[in-house]
Amino acid sequence: MEMISFEKAFEVVMNSVFETDTEIISFTDSFGRILAEDISSDTDMPPFHRSAVDGYACRREDLYDDLEVMEVIPAGKVPKKKVEEGQCSKIMTGAIVPVGSDVVFMVEDSEKLVSGKIRFTGKDSKKNYSSKGEDVRKGDVVMRKGKYIKPQDIAVMASVGHTNVIVKKKPLVAVMSTGDELVEPDISPGISKIRNSNAYQLMAQVERAGGKGIYYGISPDLEKETSNLIQRAISENDIVILTGGVSMGDFDFVPSVLKSLGVNILFDRVNVQPGKPTTFGVHRKVVVFGLPGNPVSSFIQFETLVRPFLSRMMSYEWKPGEQLLPMAVRYERKSFDRMGWVPVIITGESEVLPVEFHGSAHLTAMSDTDGIFAIESGIKTIEKGELVSVRQI
Ligand code: AMP
Ligand code: MG
Repeated sequence: MEMISFEKAFEVVMNSVFETDTEIISFTDSFGRILAEDISSDTDMPPFHRSAVDGYACRREDLYDDLEVMEVIPAGKVPKKKVEEGQCSKIMTGAIVPVGSDVVFMVEDSEKLVSGKIRFTGKDSKKNYSSKGEDVRKGDVVMRKGKYIKPQDIAVMASVGHTNVIVKKKPLVAVMSTGDELVEPDISPGISKIRNSNAYQLMAQVERAGGKGIYYGISPDLEKETSNLIQRAISENDIVILTGGVSMGDFDFVPSVLKSLGVNILFDRVNVQPGKPTTFGVHRKVVVFGLPGNPVSSFIQFETLVRPFLSRMMSYEWKPGEQLLPMAVRYERKSFDRMGWVPVIITGESEVLPVEFHGSAHLTAMSDTDGIFAIESGIKTIEKGELVSVRQI
């Protein structure tokens, strides 16, 4: 099978998306989910002329007169009296502005006279209240479907009484590692073994992308075991992510196992560094990503291919945060026949510093990284000061 460009791989992946169903959940559980309905307001906001300060409500034309206090209006209570000429009502923040008044002057700008009347001591007063329906009218759409639900959105749902909300179901994502050299993190590896770091990195990446990760463990480099585990994962999930076993080694069984299970492999090599052996296939309504075993490659391939796929499954057009910033140093790479993703640190001066990086397995370097930028195939150097688009990771 032919090696394809990253752009082509991205297109193939995105064209294989099928959407998840929707479900109804409590708005209190909806943080980080994708909204699957338009939400409109059941009320004007604010629902009444609402005072923004503690002060006195009166007629603007009476502002400089000594005013008789008619009543005190606390928040949450209905005013009993209309404000007429020469009168005012003491009002608290959040309370209903009484009929007849059109200004609320602040308590800080007032003086109580011996007679009990109130005098405005300021130069001029702002209106100091919000008008009914000024923010939102009853029936207005306050949130549209396809939105990622942030904490602020939960406040909006609360304010319009939308306590049950329709969201996209989280895609179910199987995560499994392959390799006889792997042991779980709580085990001391001993000679010839390393700890399985990829699977846990991927589980966290799945969670950050809005999916539900299910860990399937480590498969040994044996065809039968690998096949059984993948088959089970395919039958129970929407996405299956494997790491390792996709290179050209004698024990890299993943591609042949996928084929024997009836997975239609759409590509098995991408012209990108790191991440060349990335494999992608479809089995009915389940997709399989075979990511490289190297943790840095697997991380970057997830962010650049799997995350957009997973987002679109929930009809969410996720865009990675990108910043155009100048290079702090000149960057040169040895081979330039592939497109590259370059992990970088953003310095205190907002300049881009490529991370010292000893190959695709250099995990701790990745931990310090703020982002990655793309370098086209055929390009060998980027000069100091040249602008690059850094994508947050
Ligand atoms: P492979 O793609 O199986 O040839 O693996 C490539 C490299 O990544 C090898 O050095 C593996 O030991 C390493 N590797 C594979 N799987 C993992 C994993 N789950 N965690 C950490 N390193 C891994
Ligand atoms: Mg392996």
